[in-house]
Amino acid sequence: MLSKNLTNYCKKNAIKLTPLRNEVLEILAKQNNPLTAYEILDLLKESNPKAQVMSVYRILEFLQNHHLIHRIENLNAFMLCNHLSEHHISQWLICEDCGNVEEYTDNEFSHAIDKITTDNGFAVTAETIELKGVCLNCQKEKKK
Ligand SMILES: [Zn+2]
Ligand SMILES: [Zn+2]
Repeated sequence: MLSKNLTNYCKKNAIKLTPLRNEVLEILAKQNNPLTAYEILDLLKESNPKAQVMSVYRILEFLQNHHLIHRIENLNAFMLCNHLSEHHISQWLICEDCGNVEEYTDNEFSHAIDKITTDNGFAVTAETIELKGVCLNCQKEKKK
């Protein structure tokens, strides 16, 4: 089952969730970390043995266009948006040790990016702000 939040967001924005779209969304909603298209396909095959990777890509594109999920370029993987809203530029913190990925959306940061691009008349096609490093938990582990 999708969370109430997700269901409401889809209703409010008239996003049509076919059973397969629904299932892909559910798969991503259960994960704390990003999944690649093939990992999603494997999970999808448990209930839809005939599922194809092409349809997974199409569904992911659809969900992305509706701001339900994000693509993490560095990992070529997908993750549920953690604060559903129309359009936002996310900042990603990617831990290279444990693979943990956190999404942040700092409004001031987004405004700064908007200003830079508007001032330069630059049409943005990809908003990828991904920082790689070591998360706090992993740093603590190392000190032990
Ligand atoms: Zn988001
Ligand atoms: Zn970590």
